[in-house]
Amino acid sequence: MTGSEQLQPLSLPAAGADWGPWLDERCRGSLARAGEMRSKLADREPGDVLGAWNELHVELANAFAVASLIAQVHPEQAIREQAEQLEVEANRFHTELMLDPAAFAALSAAPTDTLDEAAQRVLEKSLRDFRRAGVDRDEATRSQLRELNEREVELAQAFSRGIRDDNRTTTVPASALKGLPEDWVADHPSGDDGNVTLSTDYPDTVPFMTFSVDADARRRVMTSFLNGGWPENDAVLGELLAVRHQHAQLLGHSDWADFDAEVKMIGRGGAIAEFIDSIAADSLEAGRRDIAILLERARQDDPGIEAIDVANWRHYAEVVRREQFDVDAQEVRTYFDFTKVRQGLLDVTGRLFGLEYAEVPDAPSWHDDVTAYDVSLDGEVLGRIRLDLHPRDGKYNHAAQFDLVPGVRGVQLAEGVLVCNFPRGLMEHDDVVTLFHEFGHLVHHVLAGRHDWVRFSGVATEWDFVEAPSQMLEEWAWDADVLASFATDSAGTPIPEELVTRMRAGEEFGKGFLARTQMFYAAVSYRLHLERPKDITARVLELHDDYNLIRPIPDTHFHTGFGHLEGYSSAYYTYMWSQVIAKDLFSAFDKDDLFAAGPAHAYRDKVLAAGGSKDAADLVADFLGRPYNADAFKAWLDEAPEER
Ligand SMILES: [Zn+2]
Repeated sequence: MTGSEQLQPLSLPAAGADWGPWLDERCRGSLARAGEMRSKLADREPGDVLGAWNELHVELANAFAVASLIAQVHPEQAIREQAEQLEVEANRFHTELMLDPAAFAALSAAPTDTLDEAAQRVLEKSLRDFRRAGVDRDEATRSQLRELNEREVELAQAFSRGIRDDNRTTTVPASALKGLPEDWVADHPSGDDGNVTLSTDYPDTVPFMTFSVDADARRRVMTSFLNGGWPENDAVLGELLAVRHQHAQLLGHSDWADFDAEVKMIGRGGAIAEFIDSIAADSLEAGRRDIAILLERARQDDPGIEAIDVANWRHYAEVVRREQFDVDAQEVRTYFDFTKVRQGLLDVTGRLFGLEYAEVPDAPSWHDDVTAYDVSLDGEVLGRIRLDLHPRDGKYNHAAQFDLVPGVRGVQLAEGVLVCNFPRGLMEHDDVVTLFHEFGHLVHHVLAGRHDWVRFSGVATEWDFVEAPSQMLEEWAWDADVLASFATDSAGTPIPEELVTRMRAGEEFGKGFLARTQMFYAAVSYRLHLERPKDITARVLELHDDYNLIRPIPDTHFHTGFGHLEGYSSAYYTYMWSQVIAKDLFSAFDKDDLFAAGPAHAYRDKVLAAGGSKDAADLVADFLGRPYNADAFKAWLDEAPEER
């Protein structure tokens, strides 16, 4: 094929049509073709093997993408379940493939002297994936690895289930609801005894911990929350840590964290400890400064209070933001009407990256809420994006970007979807920030969709880098000029600059102690995998003392409810790691003109469009003209919030 101009987006069934047969063909058809290719890999000429491997992975990626998307967004439960089943099949295919000695042998035989740099990289990464799966180990080790994998999946699921199914409640007097928003109070009526029962879910816990003025009730609610999964998950976690450790050792690594870090920017387990300690040191001063402000304010209510702890920090942070930074969330939201925000997002990112979005009103999708746009750059269509932004029953209830099709030059256009849950009317500013964040992933997916190798397509960089572009794009949602271009109230008045300044100052308050709390989480995630302590509770309390500036409360067990130990395992540091790089990337932009084409286009071409074709550290260095560092992040931490 030549060029991508004749490529067409994937055609989907219409909303309300029968998606079953289409979904089955898209996934099982792709897996069947991939299976066919797998069986013939060994017969290929060595010179053709890598190309065949790429074609196989295009099929596999297509199956994965559509199954994981549809499982989360389709309005019909039966279709979502069918998609989940197809996801399991794709996963099984992948596991078997990576433990297939014949496939490994075929790829290992590929001649390296004729490969260009990109092909060389694909080959190296693929052989590394094979070795990390254990394909080159003896049969006994491979079967042990298979067993450990299965046990790890079971334990990880049990750990999540232990949190999800722990329906703990706390009873508080109706008077404890004083200070909470009216609609929240209306949703929490008191029983015959005059008490209100609260669950440990976020929608109950977070507003209560933020707004309730009843210190005793807050403490009891937080105690319940921090005992989620206790005691069952303690043993589950103990075994999960042991299984992961054994898995890593079988593959020649000293510990799980080191095995996991090998394919990340951070590179080795020991570097995680160094990173955590350096961020903890850098945030100490700012953290202490803001904790002192919280304590001073708390003493106005309770002169005897000794410390800011996990049961009162959120409340006093809110009080300080309201009283000292004068940010009224009710006033802020009048400027963020959904329809204007969505158009604003497209205008802002279009201008920034030189992209054009053409709405495709007749593009079929799974639901009528979904809007579709063709994205082009310099007249060339890069792909199609879909925005699915409002809640509905059975839909994924967080915010995320999903792939629909990974773009491959001359083969298929990039297509991606934003899945969020915003109101149809006025939005909170937090929602606007989330929208910009997630759109950062989507634009990354589309811009990096013109590589020959599917391995490099889209958000294909190391896992501890993927958040950085999105975290950086959040800055545009905090800029007064940018916001004024689309955030207008019902009379058409743009959001005032001084309100944005106060919003920013309020947001900045607490960044030091919040960084310390993040480092406590990161230390728990890393240290538990490294040390596998017998008494996990005791070790977690020590780590709490070492890192968190917010005091713990007695008789709680943070680790049994820390769900990220399942997905992130030892790598919870990644969020902060990306944040450090995001601040460094942003330092190259002109703060007085965030749209300046020089840095914006260089960033688009050198970082985003490059996808996974280089190591993330090299992409960042290409853009910045130097290796990345933590200077911008440290300067940001040290900056006091603006005049209060
Ligand atoms: Zn993200």
